[in-house]
Amino acid sequence: MSDSPHEYAPELARALQEFREEIAHFEYTPEPVSMGTVMDVGESIVHVSGLRQVMVGEILRFDNDSLGMALNLTTESVGAIIMGSNEGIVRGGNVQALGYVASVPVGEQMLGRVVDALGRPVDGKGPVSTARVRPIERPAPGIIERAPVDQPLTTGIKAVDALVPIGRGQRQLIIGDRQTGKTTMAVDAILNQRPNDVLCIYVAIGQKLSSVAQVVNELQRSGAMQHTVVITAEASAPAALQYIAPYAGCAMAEEFMQGGRDTLIVYDDLTKHAWAYRQLSLLLRRPPGREAYPGDIFYLHARLLERAGRLDDLRGGGSMTALPIVETQLGDLAAYIPTNIISITDGQIYLETELFHSGVRPAINAGLSVSRVGGAAQSPAMRQVAGQIRLDMAQYRELQAFSQFGTDLDAATQTALNRGARLVELIKQPQHTYFAPEDQVAIFFAATHGYLQDVAIDDVSEFESLLVQYLNRERQSVRNAIAFERRMTPELEQALSLALNDFQRTIWENRG
Ligand code: ATP
Ligand code: MG
Repeated sequence: MSDSPHEYAPELARALQEFREEIAHFEYTPEPVSMGTVMDVGESIVHVSGLRQVMVGEILRFDNDSLGMALNLTTESVGAIIMGSNEGIVRGGNVQALGYVASVPVGEQMLGRVVDALGRPVDGKGPVSTARVRPIERPAPGIIERAPVDQPLTTGIKAVDALVPIGRGQRQLIIGDRQTGKTTMAVDAILNQRPNDVLCIYVAIGQKLSSVAQVVNELQRSGAMQHTVVITAEASAPAALQYIAPYAGCAMAEEFMQGGRDTLIVYDDLTKHAWAYRQLSLLLRRPPGREAYPGDIFYLHARLLERAGRLDDLRGGGSMTALPIVETQLGDLAAYIPTNIISITDGQIYLETELFHSGVRPAINAGLSVSRVGGAAQSPAMRQVAGQIRLDMAQYRELQAFSQFGTDLDAATQTALNRGARLVELIKQPQHTYFAPEDQVAIFFAATHGYLQDVAIDDVSEFESLLVQYLNRERQSVRNAIAFERRMTPELEQALSLALNDFQRTIWENRG
């Protein structure tokens, strides 16, 4: 019986005890840095040998003080992207792995600033005084942590609020060819957040410096910079910075969201983001897939957009609404990147060149634009009037095609065409203007209840602006009722009709 385990028990117990004590006092001290050597340098990328214990996404420093980020980890080498100049990075040079993944400064102090993709200020206003940093990559909130998207995020843009309403926490794509007003729409949504207490992040990816400057000017001119952070990785910035810019912006928005705030983030645009990532991937010799994009491009964008959403009350109830922008070629919505992003957003606003040039601005194609969760987030009053508008617009589009054949039109068709044409006029809106939700409800109510029937097409915008002035001057009570009741009760409809009749009689018919 000498080999019975019991005979060893006291010894085992002692060993176990020693082991326990040892691990109780064990302290893990990671190597502070790890050093490697540059094997080869290319435009935007390097391969490094000798780096041990390096993480995916870890920040590297080169001899010329440029930073890099480790992306490809293989047994022989580490493939990394250079987030700065590659001048002075030579074969055989030193590379330091800094032991942390890419992070950016976050917090209220970022508001009003223009920074690059690593959060370094580029607005000449000195260093950013925030002590908080956050990794740019983070898992999206889980299902349990989320609340449904059921609160409106009004943009002040009639066409959006009525036809493709956006809810807090929604991801709504703005898509269209070059020069169709995509940036303007997103920037106007930011400008119009002043009354709503929503913090905004504008991320410029691969844009011309002049366009970014124009956006910043507009934000400053209108006072919106106070509630906005601008992150810029313009076309001339290293591809690596263009690649990480949206994640940097997302991290800043996340910080606000987790602090219980509502945020709006614009990614302008993800087409150029995909190009930057494709460039880096090809240089890192990752296998190209469809349209030469790397296989994980879909996952990349899905991961980014999943981080938007609304947290439940236990987690502060904050939200992140995302407006990614995608540029199409010749209206091709079926190309790789557009279809990918359409499938991971909650709807799209499709802007069309033809409409833009025919003077319908914003150039929303009402037939191809949808908001899959927005309806639940619309105020009931708006939902009521907007539902009718969508129907009228759809009918108008159909009849318009039909009436081109020159058939005799009956009275009902004429009326529908007449109403549709006026609605199209009402949807138009100059850039950088704001319509309060209660004014929008009144305007669309007027349109769907025949008040515009006898207004000439060319006079529609005048009718609208006089009406808004009149309501603000003389019918605040009705406006307030729309804003606070949020529902179109019969009494409210009656009050609104009375106001409209009065406006028609005293103002519209007596205008100079
Ligand atoms: P790009 O493809 O170059 O990024 P984009 O689609 O972002 O272009 P914008 O730069 O927003 O388009 O707009 C193009 C031009 O149209 C700008 O000069 C802008 O001022 C004008 N514009 C946009 N929206 C409107 C509008 N609602 N009313 C009048 N002009 C507008
Ligand atoms: Mg643009």
